[in-house]
Amino acid sequence: MNRDSLYLGGRWVSANSGATIAVENPATEEIIAHVPAGNAEDVERAVTAATAAFDDWSRTPMAERGAILGKLHEALASRADEIARTVGLELGTPLKVAKAVQAGLPLAVLRGYADLAANPAAEETIGHSLIAREPVGVVGAITPWNYPLHQVVAKVAAALAAGCTVVLKPSELTPLVAYLLLDAADEAGLPDGVLNLVTGTGAEVGAAIAGHPGVDMVSFTGSTATGRAVSHAAADRIARVSLELGGKSANIILADADLTKAVKVGVGNAFLNSGQTCTAWTRMLVHRDLYDSAVSLAADAAAGYTTGDPFDAGTRMGPLVSAAQRERVQGFISRASARMVAGDSGVPRKGYFVAPTVFADVDPGSELAQEEIFGPVLSIIPFDDDEDAVRIANNSRYGLAGGVWGTPDRALAVARRLRTGAVDVNGASFNPVAPFGGYKQSGIGRELGVHGLAEFQQTKAIQR
Ligand code: NAD
Repeated sequence: MNRDSLYLGGRWVSANSGATIAVENPATEEIIAHVPAGNAEDVERAVTAATAAFDDWSRTPMAERGAILGKLHEALASRADEIARTVGLELGTPLKVAKAVQAGLPLAVLRGYADLAANPAAEETIGHSLIAREPVGVVGAITPWNYPLHQVVAKVAAALAAGCTVVLKPSELTPLVAYLLLDAADEAGLPDGVLNLVTGTGAEVGAAIAGHPGVDMVSFTGSTATGRAVSHAAADRIARVSLELGGKSANIILADADLTKAVKVGVGNAFLNSGQTCTAWTRMLVHRDLYDSAVSLAADAAAGYTTGDPFDAGTRMGPLVSAAQRERVQGFISRASARMVAGDSGVPRKGYFVAPTVFADVDPGSELAQEEIFGPVLSIIPFDDDEDAVRIANNSRYGLAGGVWGTPDRALAVARRLRTGAVDVNGASFNPVAPFGGYKQSGIGRELGVHGLAEFQQTKAIQR
């Protein structure tokens, strides 16, 4: 693997500065690799390559692009074990979860876009107008560390299917798995310049992409604060942005819910990937009649989470991604004024671990209930009736996801009233082709499936 290079115009090349960024294993605190610290000149080279490739790629029939994406999928699928291992090493996701989610999910998304492109929908007509769908242009894709391949593939596969070319900047904390995608692209014969990789920091490479006049669209996933900065940079030239940002999702357990299942699934959701999941149900809202039982079930469930080496088969929770992230999460825990019912227990001495933590009697307006903590911290809040539950759930500047448990019609009625981009009723599973994205400060735009494809397309009305 060419971890010491950038991938520009279909070739592995040296970065301009010669400087590197160390990649750490958060479970052991050891440096496991170095990647190039790209700079604005590298972004310039990448945008030039992506611009040069755009004409041919955008005019390649969609079905042909689909066939190439199929080959890319094949090449990436042959690396599934290496993907899971790499994310286990650079992020600390337990291997079993890494196989299913960090490798399995992006492979399913890529397969989906290959199939979608291979069988293009008929063009729409409205009266005497033909509505052509055309690619937006050169896309800058900037991604975070928590699902480091999935977040890349959700953008890249849709953009390439649409006929866009891409300059990709993965998170500097977890850049290694992106190299596997570029290896696969090289092997699959993706035309030169269609997908380019520039590793580096957000302040240098990310900002250069967001502000580059040759980048027609910036597709960003990350924190709301950075999304705001990216949006400002793109606004100067009226470039399109899509933003997948933070969340503080509510899991509502109505009076007639299956409590045991709702709490078990709810705790699992909140603690997935050590709580470093944008859609995590970090607020558990429980009807007063079930409240005490829910608190004790959640505390027991949290105590059952074995924390430790991601490569140990018995581990259910790995470390947080970095020392800074651990400090941040511990800050929220130490400032909390609610009742701690789980947490503060032994975790490995080395590595950036935080014990699975549950707070009860959390004030819905408090920091604990309002801020995205991005660690294994669950807040439990009681409510009086369905109306009260909806009010508390929507009392957030975020609006990404949520859960509702109860008899199906009643739960669906509550789900419809949540101001969020997604809601799962009674633990229904994630759908990788359903639109994914946020209301309010959780973002703008949608990823995945046909809605995700449309983000990378313009419509043109041709009157005949
Ligand atoms: P982050 O905002 O710090 O970084 C995200 C990416 O932006 C990184 O690649 C980073 O290098 C880059 N970046 C940083 N500063 C930049 C700048 N000034 N200009 C351009 N790019 C810049 O976020 P993170 O810490 O990597 O990820 C965690 C956050 O991501 C959480 O808030 C989480 O909720 C959010 N997230 C959202 C979704 C979603 O789909 N809604 C998915 C995953 C993560």
